[in-house]
Amino acid sequence: MDSLQELYREVILDHTKRPRNYGEMPEATHEAEGHNPLCGDCVTIQLIVANGIVERATFRGSGCAISTASASILTDAVRGKPIDQVEALFQAFRKALTDDAAAVDHENLGELCALLGVREFPMRVKCATLAWHTLSAALTEQGVVVATEEAPHAKSD
Ligand code: ZN
Repeated sequence: MDSLQELYREVILDHTKRPRNYGEMPEATHEAEGHNPLCGDCVTIQLIVANGIVERATFRGSGCAISTASASILTDAVRGKPIDQVEALFQAFRKALTDDAAAVDHENLGELCALLGVREFPMRVKCATLAWHTLSAALTEQGVVVATEEAPHAKSD
């Protein structure tokens, strides 16, 4: 294992052991819940958005180390950012995870780079992006429930 991988492993472990911004935020203005049935991850993201800025983000839920670390890193990464920058960060992270050929902007992605090791494992990519899909849903619609997979008994309405 090279030193960069070692560092990334430590970042993930640190966020898993000491999740940042974990808990319920009654004063939240936006909220969504996400599920990744393939792994059993559940996450609720809550935000305080004012004047187009994400002032605070919290998460709670239960899931694997990758989904927990991803949610924890997310809540730090989006804090104080305008909504369009948050969406741009999600798109950059998703592209880095799913497109092997994409150049990775380490400066922009910051600690999110620690999660890029999962890109060789498509099942784990869903763990890493769950919190981001949930965040995106919270920003666009309130109180929605998102899933990384179509529900087996999805209603047509
Ligand atoms: Zn997972």
